[in-house]
Amino acid sequence: MRFADVIGNASVAKMLSSMADSGRVAHAMLLYENEGCGALALALAYVQYLNCSNPSGGDSCGECPSCRQISKLIHPDMHFIFPVNKGPKTSDEKPTSESYLKYWRELAVADPYFTEADLQRAIGIESKSGLIAVAEAKSIISKLSLSSVTDGYKAVIFYLPEKMNQETANRLLKLVEEPPAKTLFLFITHAPEKVLQTIFSRCQSVRVMPLTKEEAAQIAALKPAQDAEESTIFMDLFSDLLRSIVSRDLMGTLECGEAMAALDSREKQKAFCTFAANCIRKIFMLQQNLPQISDVEEHEIEFYSEMASKCPKGFCVKAITNIEKVASMIDRNVNSKILFCDLVNRMFLNI
Ligand SMILES: [Zn+2]
Repeated sequence: MRFADVIGNASVAKMLSSMADSGRVAHAMLLYENEGCGALALALAYVQYLNCSNPSGGDSCGECPSCRQISKLIHPDMHFIFPVNKGPKTSDEKPTSESYLKYWRELAVADPYFTEADLQRAIGIESKSGLIAVAEAKSIISKLSLSSVTDGYKAVIFYLPEKMNQETANRLLKLVEEPPAKTLFLFITHAPEKVLQTIFSRCQSVRVMPLTKEEAAQIAALKPAQDAEESTIFMDLFSDLLRSIVSRDLMGTLECGEAMAALDSREKQKAFCTFAANCIRKIFMLQQNLPQISDVEEHEIEFYSEMASKCPKGFCVKAITNIEKVASMIDRNVNSKILFCDLVNRMFLNI
């Protein structure tokens, strides 16, 4: 991927290419983003630029052997670490990223803006949480101890370091602090506050900015149809919930809570929370008489206007707080039936 191909975040791309030009390449960087905003695309473009044999105008050529290998994610000096778990797509008892590399490549080449839920789906561990275990640290330490295959930079793209436990971090610490020459760690996080402080403090942090509406639409067009199907399911569920609440139908409301808990993975339940919070923000914006920044599409206006008129002031803020709380509890393995039942009940009472 070239910087020119990255959607959005032109200023971050410029900063990365200037850093490469100056020769003052930080050996550990932490790119933090709201999920799906292009941190991985930027990291890939950066490594490609650093290793390009014919760069020009602040960008890689896209055609030399190194660029071609990096764009297919098969460059021998580029390594990937991401959260994994046991699943049907590997027979490894203690899987590492290596066990799922084929699926990672397929996903990231097709859509470098993928979400954590997309990754879970691609590697077949939808119903489990991904983790970065100590075996991963051992594997990368041995890979980096070998001399580089090319004379360019070795790069470790470390996706979601917040999923790494203390033991893994301890093992990696020295390597991150004093890496071998021309070796980079690029951490990509969606939750910088959850990254272990020992790792965080050794990285140069870079904020990857949220996308504009147009940029998000460009990225949405790259996504496979499954996402569209998922949003239809989410929208049906959300509108059933709100209609039940405003019509004071407690049984209907509780049934929606059950349907939310029955979504077939934690990642999907969290994705629904993000979706629902976003829908409630739209209602809130309409209540504030700010339709121009509500992001409500033409075909949705009837539903959202009706809800904006029926939900009392104060409902939206409370609902968003409660939904965000549930999303964070899902990560802590709390029983989802209890969580969603409590959530819809609170929403019912707050109207
Ligand atoms: Zn090149």
